[in-house]
Amino acid sequence: MSNLQQVALQYRSCASATSPRHWNNWSLTPRRTNSPTCSLLNSSSATRCVVVKANASCRTCVRSFPHHKFLAEFDYRAQTTISKREVNALLDFTFIEQRQNLMFIGPLGVGKTHLATGISIKAIEAGYKVRFVTTLELIEMLELAELSGEPKKKVQQLAKYDVLVIDELGYLPMSKQGMYNLFQLISALYEHRSLILTTNKDFTSWTEFFFDDNVAVLIVDRIIHHSRIFMLGGESYRLR
Ligand code: ADP
Ligand code: MG
Repeated sequence: MSNLQQVALQYRSCASATSPRHWNNWSLTPRRTNSPTCSLLNSSSATRCVVVKANASCRTCVRSFPHHKFLAEFDYRAQTTISKREVNALLDFTFIEQRQNLMFIGPLGVGKTHLATGISIKAIEAGYKVRFVTTLELIEMLELAELSGEPKKKVQQLAKYDVLVIDELGYLPMSKQGMYNLFQLISALYEHRSLILTTNKDFTSWTEFFFDDNVAVLIVDRIIHHSRIFMLGGESYRLR
């Protein structure tokens, strides 16, 4: 069994997102209470993107989302591998307060990005700062920062958000430098900030896009420790 498979197995027990007793205890640094809820987006509006009274930082968060997908629009009859109860349970945002990560794993079109976005929008409305990036954007961003000699500054910028959403991890293979930069970022955020990750690959195949089994182990280890993992399945919603 490879190192990666061992790490994956070790954390398989947390794959049940409804079993918090499996998670390790860790010390919590109380987080400064947020500004009052800002009403950002009006899901019932025709444009679906009405910024009502957002303060500047909330607006920045919202702009980073390519699509404004709302939880209210998520059809649980079409996606039965996760329940509305499980998703609603996340909306007390203890996962953010406890610096846990959320991982949505599953094939294309099953609603991973929709859920990640919907939960993030709720978090922004609750006053948290959330930044959305695709893996490709993130790798480019970190590479540019590396080239301009300021990789730490970029990591610090990203660490200002309570939650960083990394969408589509594993869709494309990564260069060695890209992988190294990602590892640096994930290490910096580990136990300080929350990640919401979407990926189409189970941990055991992460070597495919990280190439290197050892680095994959290090990254997976940091990501899935303190993670709530949701394995989604079923048919692509796009085919409906
Ligand atoms: P993934 O990230 O898993 O590839 P997406 O979240 O991008 O899939 O979903 C693809 C499209 O289908 C999006 O437009 C999304 O809003 C929609 N969609 C997926 N699942 C559902 C669902 N259960 N209810 C409503 N819309 C869904
Ligand atoms: Mg997606």
